[in-house]
Order: sequence, then structure tokens, then C-alpha cells
Amino acid sequence: MPKVYNWQIDREMDYPYEESRPDKQFAIVFNINRCIGCQTCTMACKNTWTYSEGQEQMWWNNVETKPYGGYPQNWDKKLLTLLGPGSWSGSEFGGETIFEQAPAGKNVLGHMPTEEDWAHPNIYEDTPSGSLDHGTELPEHDPWMFYLQRTCNHCTYPGCLAACPRKAIYKRPEDGVVLVDQERCRGYRECVQGCPYKKAMYRPTSKVSEKCIGCYPRIESGQSSRCVVGCVGKIRMQGWISPPDQADPDNPIDYMVHVAKIAKPLYPQFGTEPNLYYIPPRWAPRDFLKQLFGPGVDEAIDTYQKPDDKLFGLLRLFGTTEDIIEKFEVRDRTAIAFDGAGREILRMPFDEPLIVRDRIDTQFAIQRFNEP
Ligand code: SF4
Ligand code: SF4
Repeated sequence: MPKVYNWQIDREMDYPYEESRPDKQFAIVFNINRCIGCQTCTMACKNTWTYSEGQEQMWWNNVETKPYGGYPQNWDKKLLTLLGPGSWSGSEFGGETIFEQAPAGKNVLGHMPTEEDWAHPNIYEDTPSGSLDHGTELPEHDPWMFYLQRTCNHCTYPGCLAACPRKAIYKRPEDGVVLVDQERCRGYRECVQGCPYKKAMYRPTSKVSEKCIGCYPRIESGQSSRCVVGCVGKIRMQGWISPPDQADPDNPIDYMVHVAKIAKPLYPQFGTEPNLYYIPPRWAPRDFLKQLFGPGVDEAIDTYQKPDDKLFGLLRLFGTTEDIIEKFEVRDRTAIAFDGAGREILRMPFDEPLIVRDRIDTQFAIQRFNEP
């Protein structure tokens, strides 16, 4: 297999195709600390893309409760067990990826979920770890749980694409979105087996595979995906990620991932260089978080808890606009967002004005109630 460089595991690795990065790479940052588990994002996606016959068990976006939840059930535990132990030496992963552990005759190590595994998308929702008798204390609760937001990662080295014997899966050079060519697909389900995140799904009515398309018609017009704009908790920010050596500190995603380093990929050790990033929850055990998000979790949480003005301003821009914020700046305690053409989209002050009105509206002769 050719050797490619994966910056998330800080080394070269085997991949069946040569390294070929898109012009721009789709990315989303999720602030786990603010997710309320309402599943509005899940329904926004379902109502847009997967409401038809044969798609009943397809949830391109799901939100699962960790540590026990998972859709399909035990998707990650099964793969971690197959992969075996692997350790980090600083930023470098010393174990083997799903490509390096591929069985003979295959490009990817994977597993096929059962029908039962797909049948319960919100299994263990709101189920905490351990006993509820222990009480709770910050920074790490005992017991604990958190919501993990999941869609296709539009990976730089997709497991689904590597596994497909028909070359029916491709990565768009203009935005890095990974798509299934429905004409070429023959429904072998190698992608379902090869995606470590289990985000390629089989549709029994059409007998071909389908997956998240990143709402590419929206991206093409400069707008964020439906799951992002629908998010009630305002925990999602969509944009573009650069490789670390090309990071732009004025690009919101680059700033959170490469500069402030508060947002981490999910299971980087799998080796696909996923492009969804998570601000880890403050209250969960650090060992568990390090297994999910790799090294740098402690520093990420420290920085998140004591943000400087630039980071504080950027965090205030989450959920403020349907447009993709491509650049930002913070000036005079105000965060300013710009679109891809460099036009200012909005301003978000650090301190919102408090206006106290007279209790009696003399014009309409009614009593008023002031809201903060
Ligand atoms: S998350 Fe899975 S389906 Fe999406 S690009 Fe990566 S390997 Fe493919
Ligand atoms: S809509 Fe936002 S807050 Fe609600 S579950 Fe989805 S990610 Fe979490």
C-alpha cells in the first residue's frame, strides 16, 4: 500500500490510494459541553434526507449518550476490541490503524453490525455510568455521561472509500465531501463494514449504500448543513479545516483545532483522519476522553475553561448564523464574522446591553414586565 501522512496520528501510514487532499475540507466543531441531547439536529437531518421507504433505520446524524450508548450499538467497542491495544507517544500513535490491520484480501479492518444493532438508535439515552448514590462534583462527576454528536466525518482517508471494490465512493476535490455514486454501487456493503464510525448505511429497497452528503447543496451556496443550523444548543460550528502547516489563525475551525487546540478528532487512532472535532466535556473521566479523542485532552479542557479574548469571542459566534463563517476577528470586546467573500456577516458583543423600560407604557396604557 502507498504511504500517506496522517497529521492526527503524527506519522505516515498505509492507505490503498496516494495522498490527495481536496482544495477545501468540510469540517464541523462540536462543543460537547453545551449539548442538551434534544435530538433536533437528528430530526433536521431525518426530515431532510432519510424520510423515505427503506431508510427507516438510517440516521445520518445521531446523538448518543456515552459511555453506554451507540448507534449502531457497540460500534466503537467492537472495533476497539478487534484493533487491540495501542498507545500514544506524545502526538504519535504507536499502534496500528484499520488499514494497517486489514485482513488478507481486504483493505480495511472492520465489522458488520447486526440488524438488532441498527434497530435502537437512542439505546441507553440519558443513562449515566455507575451508581446514582455517589453524588456529583465538578470537575469530574461520579457518575457521569455526555452526549456525543455523530455524523459522517468526511474523512481525509475514508475507510468506506478504501473498502469499496467498485470504486463507487469518491471524495469531492472542491469541499472534501465523501459521496456514494448510486449508479456504480452494487450493494456489496463493504463500505458498511469498512467505515469505522458506521456512517455508511445500506438501503434494502434500492439495494445500494447511502450516507451523509454533508448537505452539499447548502455548502455550495455558503450555508451550513441542516444539523448545524438546526442545533438548539448552538453547539455546532461548520467551516473548513486546513492541514496544520497551513493553519490560518483567522479561520474559526483552524483556530480551534490547530491554534487553541481545544477541539479534537474522534478516535484518531482508527487512521481515517476524520474531519469532525469535539471540545471534550469537562466532567467526564480523562482516561475515557483520551481513548476517544487522543492526546491533548487535558490541555484542551484547561484552555476551554480559561479562554483568552479571541477564543471567548469565537465561542460566542456558535449558532449565530446560517452562513458558513470563514474568517473572524475580535476587536473591542466584539466578535466579528465574515463569509467566504470577506463580507461582514454579523457582530457579537461580549456584553449584551441591558435595557430597563418604564413599568407603565403610557402610549398603550398597559403594564410592562421587564425581561433580562
Ligand atoms: S465517517 Fe465513514 S462513511 Fe464517512 S467518510 Fe469516514 S469512513 Fe466514510
Ligand atoms: S440539536 Fe444541538 S443541542 Fe440538540 S442534540 Fe443536536 S447537537 Fe445537541
